[in-house]
Amino acid sequence: MSREVPAVFGSVFSPEMPVIAFEDGAWQKVRWQSSAEMSFPPGAHALHYGSECFEGLKAFRQQNGDIVIFRPDDNIARMRQSARLLHMPVPEADTYRAALFELVKRAADIVPDAPNALYLRPTLVGTDPVIGKAGSGTTSALLYILASPVGDYFKVGSPMKLLVETGHMRCAPHMGRIKCGGNYASALPWVVDAKEKYGANQVLFCPGGDVQETGASNFMLIQGDEIITKPLTAEFLHGVTRASVLQIAPDLGYRVSERDFTVAELKQAVEGGAEAILTGTAAVISPVTAFVIDGKEVPVTGGQKRGLAIRKAITDIQYGITPDRYGWIHKVA
Ligand SMILES: *Cc1c(COP(=O)(O)O)cnc(C)c1O
Repeated sequence: MSREVPAVFGSVFSPEMPVIAFEDGAWQKVRWQSSAEMSFPPGAHALHYGSECFEGLKAFRQQNGDIVIFRPDDNIARMRQSARLLHMPVPEADTYRAALFELVKRAADIVPDAPNALYLRPTLVGTDPVIGKAGSGTTSALLYILASPVGDYFKVGSPMKLLVETGHMRCAPHMGRIKCGGNYASALPWVVDAKEKYGANQVLFCPGGDVQETGASNFMLIQGDEIITKPLTAEFLHGVTRASVLQIAPDLGYRVSERDFTVAELKQAVEGGAEAILTGTAAVISPVTAFVIDGKEVPVTGGQKRGLAIRKAITDIQYGITPDRYGWIHKVA
C-alpha cells in the first residue's frame, strides 16, 4: 500500500468517508460512502446562507508504528461551538469521535510516516432545501469527514512575509471564533491583494492597530523569555496549536502573557530582536521573516531559533519521539 503524499496539500482523499445526518430532529447512524462526490439539494441552506463550518486536525504514524490523533476532543468541542454559534444542529461528541477514529483506522494504510501526516477535515453543512429560510437556522445537516495524506507543510528557511492590515477586519468581530468558510471568504480580498501588491505570504489583521491573527493562523511574539499573544476573545479563532504552545511554554522556560498589543508595540519588539511566529495545525509553527507595515518592509532580525525549538518540542510529541505528558495524543491503532 502506498504511503506517498501528493505534492499539493489536501488534494487527495481516502476513498470512503463517514457521513452522519441530522434529520427529523435527531442525529442518524453513521453511513460510509465514497468521498469522490456528494449530492445536495441546490436549495441547501449552506449554499445560500452560509450554514457551514469545519475542523482541521492530524493523525500521525509514530516511530513505534502506533497511529495517533492529536487533540481530537479539542477539535470536536470547537466544532460543536461553531455549530452552536451558527444555529446549526450540534454534533453529538460520541458519534462524531467514533466516526473520526474509525475513519483513521480504515485509512491506516495511507497514514504516511512522520513528519508527513493524515490531515482530517470534519465538515458540517446545513441541508434544509428551502431558500426562504434566510432568517432562520438550518434544521437538517450533514457531518462528514475527509482524510487526506499530506506532506510536512513546514519548509525550513522559507520566507514568511506578513502584510500588516490595520484598516480592515478578517471577518465580522462576532464571527471570529467560528471556524467557517464565510470568514475565509471575508478575508480573501486582502489576502489576494497582499500577495499581488506586496509579495506577502499572509495578512496579519490588526483592525485599528489591535494585533489579532492572519487569515488562517494565530500570531505570537517571543520577546526574551516572554511569549505574547492576544487573550481569547470572540474576534479570532481559538487555535488548538495556540493552546498547545501556551501549555508547553512554561516547561520550556517561557512566561506566557495573554494580552492585547498594538502594531506600534509589535514593530518596536521586532526591531529590538523579538521573534514572531504563526501557529496552526498545518505547519504547527511558522517563523515570520518580515512584516510590511505602512508600506515599509520591517525584517525580523531576531531569527527563528526559539520558535523552531518550541515547534520541535510539539512535533516530537506528535511523532512519538518524546513521551506525551499533556494528554494530547490519542491512539487509534
Ligand atoms: C484553523 C485556524 C487557526 C488555527 O487553529 P489550529 O487549531 O491551531 O489549527 C487559526 N486561525 C484561523 C482563522 C483558523 O481558521
